[in-house]
Amino acid sequence: MCPITITKRPTETMADETLDRIINETQLWPVPPSVSLYGLGEPLLDAHLAQRIRRLKAGKTPCVRISTNGSLLDGKASTGLLEAGLDILDISLECLDREVYERIRVGLSFDRVLENILGFLKLRNTINPSCVVRLTVVAHPATVARLGEYIAFFQGHLREKHDALIISMLHTYGQNFSTLKSGLLPCSMLDSYMHILQDGTVSMCVVDTEAQVDFGNVHRTSLLEIFNSESVCWHRERLKDRRHELPLCAGCNVPEAHSHGTTLGFPMTAEQIASEASRITAMVGKLLEERPESGGV
Ligand code: SF4
Repeated sequence: MCPITITKRPTETMADETLDRIINETQLWPVPPSVSLYGLGEPLLDAHLAQRIRRLKAGKTPCVRISTNGSLLDGKASTGLLEAGLDILDISLECLDREVYERIRVGLSFDRVLENILGFLKLRNTINPSCVVRLTVVAHPATVARLGEYIAFFQGHLREKHDALIISMLHTYGQNFSTLKSGLLPCSMLDSYMHILQDGTVSMCVVDTEAQVDFGNVHRTSLLEIFNSESVCWHRERLKDRRHELPLCAGCNVPEAHSHGTTLGFPMTAEQIASEASRITAMVGKLLEERPESGGV
């Protein structure tokens, strides 16, 4: 499901000096960018995460987001993130079936993660009510088998017209896995997004885990120069309608996976829950039937 186990890159957090360079530059822009403080890894392993969020929010950063598996999101960590001003927490919980969950998320405890999620939601409501919580489900026939129960359960915990449930499709992670069919949909990754690795290297996108495409490094070149560089512009053009010409992108299915993703908001009626659950379950079954023969997850 995740290439963290096969990456050849060092598994380390970004140095303060690197983050400082990024913050110092972007805070001078007329509109600083939103920041997602994670890459290929679990952000709560970073002991300085709350301080980093606080630093970004002390400037003009409009939105700071993290995505976590929730295993380390205990009361202390939750309080730290919320007090620091976190804007969006994406948290993965594939299903409410302990056995299925622990088969997918090897080494994690379903009970602990669920307890952490419910604890975070309670603390959010008192410490930082504006923080948005988005539960994420990576769709697979096993994870969506009882999707209706899952939606109904979290409808009782997530805040109406504020939080969300995201059903996303498993993608190739830069061709490391075989999942849905790849196609030729345009990819907007380089339009308004920069992926910065822990050493300051700007790579193509979040699935370019090995920095196959290296656009430069924030320690040598400003982000604005990189964003407007000849190389980025050249790749950006190809992502519109010729991504099959790029070795990294030719077999990638992220745009296709995104096009099938679903975001559910609340409240939902019982009929809406049943109808969405059955639509998504049918779609996942059909998409996986069409997936390439080789590989698999
Ligand atoms: S097509 Fe895939 S690999 Fe290429 S930029 Fe988009 S997400 Fe990244």
